[in-house]
Amino acid sequence: MYEKYVKILKDHSLKITSPRLEILKYLDEHHTHPNVEEIYSTLKKKYPSLSRTTVYNSLEALKNNKIVQSLTISGSELRYDINEGLHHHFICTHCRSIFDIAISCPNMDRTILGGHHVEEVQGYFKGICKNCQTKQKARNNNG
Ligand SMILES: [Zn+2]
Ligand SMILES: [Zn+2]
Repeated sequence: MYEKYVKILKDHSLKITSPRLEILKYLDEHHTHPNVEEIYSTLKKKYPSLSRTTVYNSLEALKNNKIVQSLTISGSELRYDINEGLHHHFICTHCRSIFDIAISCPNMDRTILGGHHVEEVQGYFKGICKNCQTKQKARNNNG
């Protein structure tokens, strides 16, 4: 069940450690763009001896190898994402959820045509997500 993640680490000549495997699995299964704290507290339940520093360092190693990407949303908060290419994000200002937006960006295409190599795209759309709108509507109907 961890073979997929072992392979990813091997392909990048990274040492295979349990925290790295667990973090990859977590990000692969939760496309919610969690922050360090969220990953740490979840994995801590399974590995009580795990430290926050280990989680942070593992994420840095994965990030430096472009296996995961980090996003800075609202100030200094870093959120992590398994790297699935360049994509935009929609941020719900109500519940703080972050969704992947699979649309191509014409500005990015132009940048690539100009001969530049794009490594990161920080395109954010902010608003109220579908889930929150549904909840709001339900509340209004009941009111
Ligand atoms: Zn929302
Ligand atoms: Zn994403």
